[in-house]
Amino acid sequence: MDTHSRKLICSKPGEPARFHRAGRILVDPWTSVENGCVEIAGNRIISVRSYIPQSDVIDHGPGVLMSPLVNAHLHLELSALSDSVPFDQGFRAWVRQLLEKRAAVPEQEMIRTVESAARKMNRSGHVWVGDIASLDTVRPLVPHLGLKGHFFQEFLGVRQPDVDFRKEADLTFGVAGHAPHTTSPDVLTFLKQAARSNHAVFSIHLAESIDESEFIRSRKGAWADFLTARGIDFSTWKIKAGTPVAHARSLGLLDESTIGVHLLDTTDEDLDILARTGTKVCLCPRSNQNLHNRLPRIEKMMEKGIKPALGTDSLASCPSLDILDEMAYVHRHYPALDPGDILAMGTINGAHALGVASKTGTLEPGKSGDLLYLPVTAQTPKALIERIVSNES
Ligand SMILES: [Zn+2]
Repeated sequence: MDTHSRKLICSKPGEPARFHRAGRILVDPWTSVENGCVEIAGNRIISVRSYIPQSDVIDHGPGVLMSPLVNAHLHLELSALSDSVPFDQGFRAWVRQLLEKRAAVPEQEMIRTVESAARKMNRSGHVWVGDIASLDTVRPLVPHLGLKGHFFQEFLGVRQPDVDFRKEADLTFGVAGHAPHTTSPDVLTFLKQAARSNHAVFSIHLAESIDESEFIRSRKGAWADFLTARGIDFSTWKIKAGTPVAHARSLGLLDESTIGVHLLDTTDEDLDILARTGTKVCLCPRSNQNLHNRLPRIEKMMEKGIKPALGTDSLASCPSLDILDEMAYVHRHYPALDPGDILAMGTINGAHALGVASKTGTLEPGKSGDLLYLPVTAQTPKALIERIVSNES
């Protein structure tokens, strides 16, 4: 679907009551109202109804009004590296080139590309995000990007960092650990504890690569050599468990307020741990395919009761930051999945992962009055959802 044909409708506090009408109102992936309207006063939803009043109605057209898209994992700061780091030389070569090229991007260029990527996300219907940054460039820009959500400062290595938690309206600034094989257990534990005591969501890349799994299992292999070559001494890292997920659990990192990202190289026991601890799972299948030539076991996760959110990762490993593109990719590669479940991944599951399900993810009274209009029509609600997650207009 052409991103220009989508329309993001943002409401502001103090605005008078209005009725937003469309051919179908999607309350959530399984509940909809034909020829209905959403009543919004200020920036809150008051009601969703089938009765169309005589006045104060804004008619958006025959398509669908739904909750905006949620991108639960992305790296805006890498937007300047779109199409510039090759995927075909393996993950370690990608990481090495990414770091070199990122260091060479002038700051003004980084700012310009971050602002441009955020504008494009807004135009294509995204409001809430989980953004990861390891530099200081994005943080000062955040209040002006038009996005809401969690802006995680990411740390790796062995030194305990200074951490900063702030909350400004719908912007939360928190911390993320990079990954179990790049960040010392002491630093990961410190970051998670800091997030916990600030009632903030914590994020970590988890079980992304075979190198990571091998390193956690044996402290040997290609990743161990990679760290040694960079002068990182991991000899004192206390790693007691055999998989990245079990290791994260042993450090106390996993609970309802942690987002584990990728979960590509997992055992059934790992998925049981994630389900039991209530850890939120965020998947980035297009990035996984590009960097690892492999996809996560989504059906198995859902069998275990996990409800994955979706992210795009960065423009250095994925062609767009568009969650409709990500949903369409999932729909194409996992034909057995229910389209409603896929739509949930890009909306309410993402909202749960970011801890903002009381504000967005579905069109329910009391939630934010931001709406997304898509010019999609179909004979039945089921066919409509199928067309949305196929990214067809
Ligand atoms: Zn990432």
